[in-house]
Amino acid sequence: MAKVLEDIKGRLQTPFTNAPFTDFSKEENKRAQEEAIAQVRSELGQTYPLIIGGKKIIGEKTFASVNPSQPDQVIGHFTSATVEQANEAVKVAAETFESWKHVPAEERASYLFAAADLMRQRRFYFNAWMIFEVGKSWVEADGDTAEAIDFLEYYAREMLRLAGDQPVTPLPGEENKLVYIPLGVGAVIPPWNFPNAIMVGMTSASFVAGNTVVLKPASTSPAIAYQFMRLLEEVGLPAGVVNFLTGSGSVVGDTLVDNPSVRYISFTGSRDVGLRIYERASKTPKGQRWLKRTILEMGGKDGIVVDETADLDAAATAIVASAFGFQGQKCSAGSRAIVVEQVYDKVLEKVVEKTKTLTMGDVTQPTTYMGPVVDENAMKKILEYIELGKQEGRLVTGGKHQGPGYFIEPTIFADVAPEARISLEEIFGPVLAFIKAKDFDEALDIANNTEYGLTGSLFSNDEQRLERASEEFHVGNLYFNRKCTGAMVGGHPFGGFNMSGTDSKAGGPDYLLLFTQAKSISKKK
Ligand code: NDP
Repeated sequence: MAKVLEDIKGRLQTPFTNAPFTDFSKEENKRAQEEAIAQVRSELGQTYPLIIGGKKIIGEKTFASVNPSQPDQVIGHFTSATVEQANEAVKVAAETFESWKHVPAEERASYLFAAADLMRQRRFYFNAWMIFEVGKSWVEADGDTAEAIDFLEYYAREMLRLAGDQPVTPLPGEENKLVYIPLGVGAVIPPWNFPNAIMVGMTSASFVAGNTVVLKPASTSPAIAYQFMRLLEEVGLPAGVVNFLTGSGSVVGDTLVDNPSVRYISFTGSRDVGLRIYERASKTPKGQRWLKRTILEMGGKDGIVVDETADLDAAATAIVASAFGFQGQKCSAGSRAIVVEQVYDKVLEKVVEKTKTLTMGDVTQPTTYMGPVVDENAMKKILEYIELGKQEGRLVTGGKHQGPGYFIEPTIFADVAPEARISLEEIFGPVLAFIKAKDFDEALDIANNTEYGLTGSLFSNDEQRLERASEEFHVGNLYFNRKCTGAMVGGHPFGGFNMSGTDSKAGGPDYLLLFTQAKSISKKK
C-alpha cells in the first residue's frame, strides 16, 4: 500500500490533462499504426470466452462479430451467454462485492492509473481493433482510445477527491463527516459507437467507486471490450470485480436488468432500449432490498444553428465534421443544420462542396475519412430514411449504398420542414437535414423542437444571441462557433436532457456520485 500511495502522490503532482491525439503525419506514428493493423489482422477470427469470477467459459452457442467494411471477415466468435450464465455472473459479482467494497479508494484508483498507462502503450493496437470491428477511420479510432485513457485517468483522480474529507457544517458537541460508499453490483451496458471510450468509462467509474460489475458489451463490438478485460487482468484487478458477459441484449440484457441482486444499471445506447430498462428497473420484486438506480444515456438529434453574422466557412466546416465524422454514428452528431434564410443558400453550397471532397472506403488506410456503417440492420434503416428523405426534402448529394461493405455516401437533404421525420428522428448514419429558418428566433425554436436534448451548436458573432442561446438552447452540451461533436473529458462533461437520458455528465465532477451513495456519520463528542 505504501508503494501505491507513493505512486499516487507522484501522479497528483500534475493536474489532469487530456491525452493528446496522435499526429499521423509523423512517419513513426503512421508506421506504428500500420504495424498494429497488421498485428490485429493476424489475430482475427479467434473464439473468446465469457469471464466470470476470472473463469474463462466458452459456451455452446456463439455469435460472430464481423468487419462492417468486409462482412465476410470474422473479427471473433463470442459466446452467447445463457440466462443462467447471466445470473451466475451477477452472483459472482455480488460475492466479490463483499471484499472489493473494503479495498481502499487509493488502491482501486491505482488499477485505473495502471490501466491508463498500459492503454497508452497499446494505443495503436486498440485503435486497430476499432478500425476492423466498427469501421472507424484512424483519426476517429485514435480519438476514441484517447478518450478511454482520459476516463481512466480522470475517474481515478475523481475517486481520490471523493474519498477525501467532504465539507460539512461543524456543529457543537459533534464530530460529523460525509463519506461516499459504493452501491453494489452494476450491470454495465455500453453501445458500439464508442466501443473503447464509453465501455471503459462506464466500467471504470463503476469499479473505482467500489462496485463490482457485469459488463455486457454491444454485440457488434465485443472484441474491443475483450481487449480491455485482458488489460484489467494484466494490471492485476482481482477476479470477479469486472465480469465479461457477451450475448444478445434481449436475452442477457433483460436478465441483468431484472436480476434483484443488481443494484444499478449504467446504460448508454438507443432511446428505445433506454426506456425499456428504465421501466423494467423500476420493479421491486420480492426480496429486492433497494430501488435500482438507472444511469441512462440515450439518443440525440443534434442541431447546428447558423445566423447571418456567423463565419460561414467555419460553420460549413463544422457542419460537415459533425454530420459525417464516423459516418454520423455519434449521439452528438450534428444531423440537422438550421440556417437563417439570409445565408441559407451560401451555407448549403459550402457544405455540399466540402462534403463532396470527403473520402470513403478502406479505413485501414490513413487518409480515408469515412468507413462503413456498423452493420446490415443499421444500413437498411439508414437507407429507409434516405428514401423517406426523398419525399421530405431535396436530395442534394449522396444517397447511395456502395458495397460490398456497409458503405453509405454522405447524404444531404435540403429544404426539410422542421417537423419532418428526418428532421426529428435519430437516423444514426451519414444523413444531414438542412432546415431553413426565417430568422434567429425561429432557428432557436426549431433547434428545440425535438424530443432530445443532447448537443447543439450556434454559429453567430452576436453576443446577445449567444447569451440568449446559453439560456434557451435546451441541450446538455452547447457549443458556440465550433462543431457539436468531440466533447473532451474534464472540459466538456457530457450528457443530455429529455429523451437523451439522465444527464449523467460523463467525464465531469458529478459523474462518480451516480455510482456511489453518501453516508452521513455523526459522533457525539
Ligand atoms: P442499443 O440501444 O441498440 O444497444 C446498446 C446496448 O444495449 C448494447 O449493449 C445492446 O446489446 C444492449 N441492449 C439491447 N437490448 C437490450 C435490452 N433489452 N436490455 C438491456 N440491454 C440491451 O444502442 P447502440 O449500441 O445501437 O448505440 C447507438 C445508440 O446509442 C444511439 O441511439 C446513440 O445516440 C446512443 N448513444 C448515446 C450516447 C450518450 O452519451 N447519450 C453516447 C453514445 C451512443 P446488443 O448489442 O447485444 O443488442
